[in-house]
Amino acid sequence: MKGIMDYVNGRFEEVDGQEKYDVFNPAFGEKIAFVREAKREEIDRAIDGASEAQKKWQKVPISDRIKLLFRLENLMGNRLEEIAEITTIEHGKTFEESKGDVIRAIQNVESAAASSYQIMGRNNKQIATGIDEELVRVPLGVFAVISPFNFPVMIPFWFFPYAVTLGNSVVIKPSEKTPMSMNMIMNLVKEAGYPDGVIQLVNGGKEAVDYILENRKIAGVSFVGSTPVAEYVYRKGTSNRKRVQGGASAKNYILVMPDADLDGSINNIIGSFYGNAGERCLAGSVLVTLPENHDRVMNVFKKRAEELKLGYGMEETTDMGPLIRRDHMERVEMYIDSGLREGGKIVLDGRNSRCSKYPKGFFLGPTIIDGVSEGMKVMSEEIFGPVASFYSADSFEDALEVINRSRYGNASSIYTTSGQYAKRFSEMVDTGNIGINVGVAAPIAFYPFSGMKDSFFGDLHPQGGDDSVLFFTERKVIISKW
Ligand code: NAD
Repeated sequence: MKGIMDYVNGRFEEVDGQEKYDVFNPAFGEKIAFVREAKREEIDRAIDGASEAQKKWQKVPISDRIKLLFRLENLMGNRLEEIAEITTIEHGKTFEESKGDVIRAIQNVESAAASSYQIMGRNNKQIATGIDEELVRVPLGVFAVISPFNFPVMIPFWFFPYAVTLGNSVVIKPSEKTPMSMNMIMNLVKEAGYPDGVIQLVNGGKEAVDYILENRKIAGVSFVGSTPVAEYVYRKGTSNRKRVQGGASAKNYILVMPDADLDGSINNIIGSFYGNAGERCLAGSVLVTLPENHDRVMNVFKKRAEELKLGYGMEETTDMGPLIRRDHMERVEMYIDSGLREGGKIVLDGRNSRCSKYPKGFFLGPTIIDGVSEGMKVMSEEIFGPVASFYSADSFEDALEVINRSRYGNASSIYTTSGQYAKRFSEMVDTGNIGINVGVAAPIAFYPFSGMKDSFFGDLHPQGGDDSVLFFTERKVIISKW
């Protein structure tokens, strides 16, 4: 059995310590590797190495730092299928979905190539007689990237290409559930020619996160995960004088108006609810209809959901893979139970559609619960599984109010052919990412990946553009007279 190695100071290292977290192939239900419990010395050593490396790295001209991005982009493009296969093995998503995960990562490498332009400062001559003023942006030191299990490749790339290209070094701690893809990518980081120590990879769970948050050399933390952990990381990180940006949980509502092009949109809507087996922070969770289109939407949606084939993600016939762990699958089943107990009606029961070819896999089929209302758990809590809850709103205004009462604000979508509804929706809905006839409103790499309310902690969002420059650099103002 393989113990996951760290990548520190340019070398893959076997870590001492107790086997603590199992890595599974969720389709087969089999343990394939393990992560050891992190030790403080191990994390501190990686941070020390990153801090030493950063002192030299910040002096490397930015055009040379960008050249390494091009090499990394090239290497990742050449090895795309290999990385995607590892992702499917450790996560369970389909091979096509895994390729999408890697492509989104590569797009962030490309987007970070704009850093030389974005880091530019400003100046004013003669702010007073004979006095000039200049603003320059400088790197801060070592950043940590702490990522969740559901996009093992893309999410670390929301941050580290920008952080290092802007002159910092990074310590990446992937999810202990899916640590293998980023581990493989460290080979490409090395091959691209990043100096030893500039990009470090450590492994572990809560204990590793705590050691990172307690280390004085960490200037900032880019976190993505569930809301309770994001809040914990935000509070502990900021009280230890670090910058923190924290993407968090979601409950996404999809409003399908009676005038929507339902036939043209249904695949897109289905993809939003059941893509990645619903383990996506942008996944649709509640489908909102109005009384006049509820039955038609339900019929079309159910027919399409019933066609989805469960299976191992590396097989071409598979539309939907397993969930990440057995206990997570059981948690999703508990939500389905609670939906029934609290008055919902089950229209399609995923608990009846396992995958006969892989009986030990963590499979749960597409599920539909109808007649949900506010106050029910399935209407308000993140399920993170293939469950669509149907809510019938009285009107467009009622739908908006319901969506805006959610504690979360990651994403929402409207399907309509009316420009007026689309405009009002985007103006009035309180979510950071908004889809108009798009069910997974995922911003491209050079836009911030937004998020509001309990779906985001901090003010500067992931991905490229102004937010990454502000997060990963400090501004110095120089006033001079000669
Ligand atoms: P998680 O919160 O369990 O874990 C995220 C990271 O935090 C992991 O690296 C993990 O090791 C670490 N961690 C776990 N428990 C911890 C603790 N008690 N103290 C300190 N660190 C801890 O999240 P997950 O289950 O891996 O990922 C799914 C969640 O991530 C969902 O809620 C999903 O909505 C969210 N997510 C959000 C976004 C976004 O951009 N808003 C994107 C993807 C996923």
